[in-house]
Amino acid sequence: MKLKPWMAGAAILVATSVAQAGVSKIAWGTTTEGKPVALYTLSNDDLKVQITTFGARIVSIEAPDRDGKKADVVLGYPNVAQYEGDTSTYFGAIVGRYGNRIAKGTFSIDGTAYHVPINNAPNALHGGPLGFSTKVWTAREIPHGVEMTLVSPDGDMGFPGELTVHVRYTLQGNSLQIVYSANTTKPTVVNLTNHAYFNLAGDGQGTILPTLMMIDADHTTPVDATLIPTGELAPVAGTPFDFRKPTAIGARIGATNEQLKFAGGYDHNFVLNAHGPALHLAAKAVDPASGRSLTVTTTEPGVQFYSGNFLDGTKTGKFGGKYELHAGFCLETQHFPDSPNHPKFPSTLLKPGETLHSETVFTFGVEK
Ligand code: BGC
Repeated sequence: MKLKPWMAGAAILVATSVAQAGVSKIAWGTTTEGKPVALYTLSNDDLKVQITTFGARIVSIEAPDRDGKKADVVLGYPNVAQYEGDTSTYFGAIVGRYGNRIAKGTFSIDGTAYHVPINNAPNALHGGPLGFSTKVWTAREIPHGVEMTLVSPDGDMGFPGELTVHVRYTLQGNSLQIVYSANTTKPTVVNLTNHAYFNLAGDGQGTILPTLMMIDADHTTPVDATLIPTGELAPVAGTPFDFRKPTAIGARIGATNEQLKFAGGYDHNFVLNAHGPALHLAAKAVDPASGRSLTVTTTEPGVQFYSGNFLDGTKTGKFGGKYELHAGFCLETQHFPDSPNHPKFPSTLLKPGETLHSETVFTFGVEK
């Protein structure tokens, strides 16, 4: 078709609306302290994503199945009060300052010992009881998305140094990109991740046990009975942890295996085969019934694969029903748990003058 002069503007408009994700914002109530919370919606032809400033959380992601039928594929709540009242699941949240566990809440930097609160006895988990997932972040719209910012004061939850964190969520076609950056005023430890629980069949549509999981890792970091890494790297070959070929999450979750027993299922850090500053493959999950797939790429060296073992049917989700055991899985891209106490693990130390940079991309597709 020949473009007539009057069509030019329209053609440009169409082109932009395809490339540019729409971003909108609504007020989403207040915390119990009275702090206003906002809900952002990012949408394009492929995906619709809702993110709240409370914990910089992903509230929902609508993605199509193989017939184009959309479903919300993450677990969460319909309001801030329920997020605030839940101190154990970390649904959709950015966790920090230190995601995952620090043994006995103790670590040293340059010979000084630090003690952070123990909220998952006998260890510290996900930055402590008032970690980043409980904070109202400030937000601003950016092209294709939203940037969330949090200033964690010196001494916040026992961690040294004022840490300024930016998390940028953007929609690019069928991908949700998360870019993290952080700076500190004193040497500190930082491990940031997103704690979304996915169910590719749809929020509330049964368990994730039939989901086919592939994790590009030859090794895990096995844990003790309190889920702290022993420091060893264990080969996955010949174990229920071998997800190098797509395997149903439920296929071996009930196997007799000490590691599965400690965690009540999968709750382990996988050491990614590819590493380095560029994005590399971490995992790919496929729901065979709907065909929906999720591919996770990251700049991080590890991914915590968590099979929702502590969901117990007591929490009512935004879909209106209860979250039963294994209602969702997490793929938390991260540095390894308890790294501050394992000098051989990739370092989580951040010093003044350095900028932490980390990226993770969740790409949604369909298998025929
Ligand atoms: C941890 C689990 C924990 C869960 C919180 C995961 O990252 O590894 O042990 O229970 O977060 O719901």
